[in-house]
Amino acid sequence: MDDFATSRNQMVERQIAARGIRSPRLLAAMREVPREAFVSAALAGQAYEDSPLPIEADQTISQPYIVALMIEAAGVAPGDKVLEIGAGSGYAAAVMGRIAEEVIAIERHAELAALAETRMRRLGYDNVRILHGDGSAGLPEQAPFHAILAAASGSHVPEALKAQLAIGGTLVMPIGEPGAVQSLVKLTRTAEDSYDSEDLGPVRFVPLIGEQGWTERGERRSPPAARMRAAAEPLPRIDDPAFAKAFDRFGDARVVLLGEASHGTSEFYRARAAITRRLIEGHGFTIVAVEADWPDAANVDRFVRHRPRRDGEEAAFRRFPTWMWRNAEVEAFVSWLRSHNERREPEAMAGFYGLDLYNLPGSMRAVIDYLEDVDPEAAALARERYACLMPWSRDPALYGRLAVTEGYARCRAPVVAMLRELQAKRLSYIAENGEEWLDAAANARLVQNAEAYYRAMYEGAAESWNLRDTHMFETLCQLLDAKGENAKAVVWAHNSHIGNAAFTEMGQVRDELNIGQLVKERFGERARLIGFGTHAGTVAAATDWDGPMEVKQVRPSLEGSYERLSHETGLPRFLLDLRDSEAGAPLLEPRLERFIGVIYRPETERWSHYAQAILPRQFDAWVWFDETEAVRPLPGAEAPGEDDMWPFGL
Ligand code: SAM
Repeated sequence: MDDFATSRNQMVERQIAARGIRSPRLLAAMREVPREAFVSAALAGQAYEDSPLPIEADQTISQPYIVALMIEAAGVAPGDKVLEIGAGSGYAAAVMGRIAEEVIAIERHAELAALAETRMRRLGYDNVRILHGDGSAGLPEQAPFHAILAAASGSHVPEALKAQLAIGGTLVMPIGEPGAVQSLVKLTRTAEDSYDSEDLGPVRFVPLIGEQGWTERGERRSPPAARMRAAAEPLPRIDDPAFAKAFDRFGDARVVLLGEASHGTSEFYRARAAITRRLIEGHGFTIVAVEADWPDAANVDRFVRHRPRRDGEEAAFRRFPTWMWRNAEVEAFVSWLRSHNERREPEAMAGFYGLDLYNLPGSMRAVIDYLEDVDPEAAALARERYACLMPWSRDPALYGRLAVTEGYARCRAPVVAMLRELQAKRLSYIAENGEEWLDAAANARLVQNAEAYYRAMYEGAAESWNLRDTHMFETLCQLLDAKGENAKAVVWAHNSHIGNAAFTEMGQVRDELNIGQLVKERFGERARLIGFGTHAGTVAAATDWDGPMEVKQVRPSLEGSYERLSHETGLPRFLLDLRDSEAGAPLLEPRLERFIGVIYRPETERWSHYAQAILPRQFDAWVWFDETEAVRPLPGAEAPGEDDMWPFGL
């Protein structure tokens, strides 16, 4: 036995076992890991002393007994996935690696992280990984962990770390001021929202320096709202030209997605209109694609691009929820778009398009109308094929249910055949009427996807949601493709569609994706996702699906939510550029965010309208209006044919 092995055994007997550490696995691991390999050659002779030792970057390797105490308290066991924050020399991580299945250790000093990583490779400890970075907010993408050990002292246990513990898992961390005597705290997660805490006694550790710890100078960080205030850029009123100008920084993107935290807030529509005007006038955007049905938006598009109106076409947006697009704010924007396009070459005009798939009868009719013009025989065939879906066109969900009970999708084949045929004859149709080709193809694709969507509704919420958002994303891509490689698009859709779902409960718990996520995957930095939020005021919404629109009071935002933080800045309006790490970093801890849709139920708000999210990963920017008002709906739609005022039939 070499000298080190003898010292190691003595260390385990005299410093560890003699002080009451019982776990046989832990004692065996400490007999195995060569502690002398974790200090500089000059200090190797002192590696088994009963004390911490200095390592590079002015840090320390912990006293052997403290390492053992923390590992035993954390209950590290075979099969566990463990996170260590503050890898230092890598010694504690190496010991845990002899027991657990997998250990990930984070170290903020690059030099230490590199040395520790080299040691693991040299010793063949392949289940231990050392990452370089700030570990104070943990590693959400690798969670949950059975055990989390922090080897540096914080002012409190960060919520983000608690959230990354598996239920039944344990966190061990020193809590207290830098340089002072601290308490070693053990926290066990007993259920989704409950934790048991125990004080394991006094210790003295180096400070945890980082986002959720102390500042570089060892000072306490100011509260997140104060840091948000420091990073927020106050915005003037929406009608002040400086408002839209603040968004010039996103003008070089190919796709700018503008969200909304409800479907009935005037400020969100007016702000998006102002920003979109600026992007169109100053940055070459020519596509406005909105979360509205394709055929209805196509009607508006003909109006704004000065194209002939279709005979007998219904006024746009006549179905529930009418106020979402039939409102004074949208009307004002549409009128501006029409005047902007006046006297412009067709290629230079900006168009208005719908990404959504709910107006099935409108789309079927548009395909048939188009074919009547270019290929009457095909129109007859289309009528026959779509007849399959016609009986359910007012309530297509019934078709979905029937398909499930019958065990087969009776209308699938005809609608797929219709789209395929339209695409096969693409060239000859374009020669007949190219302008309308895109519209007809989009409608045929919509019918095909809507047929699948209504069936998927009975398979599960995530399937139908994913089908719908994938359809919207593909429609957007087809528009960009059709307009050429330099085409640029602005998208208006709810925050739930445009904020990257991978960083919200939607993606993390419900397996849902969305347009924002798909766009980011496709366009990366050339896509900008901009979320909108509010604290209180009024909103236009219904209580139930198909119910009447009501103007409801928005409850003040919940304590601890992103909205409450934004409110606490005291600013009436602001832009927070989350790409800037000063602005984004304090918000990385997951928090609640409010989602009001077509339906708003204030009575059950916490459960029906709030979900967890990581704002700086969800969006590139956050736009805030502290107090907001309901949109102003246009009067009800007239019956088809009665209206002379295009496109809203007023
Ligand atoms: N367990 C370690 C060992 O066996 O060598 C001892 C670690 S030492 C007491 C604490 C380490 O935490 C230092 O190397 C320090 O750089 C690191 N640290 C402090 N704040 C950190 C943070 N936010 N993220 C990652 N490492 C951090």
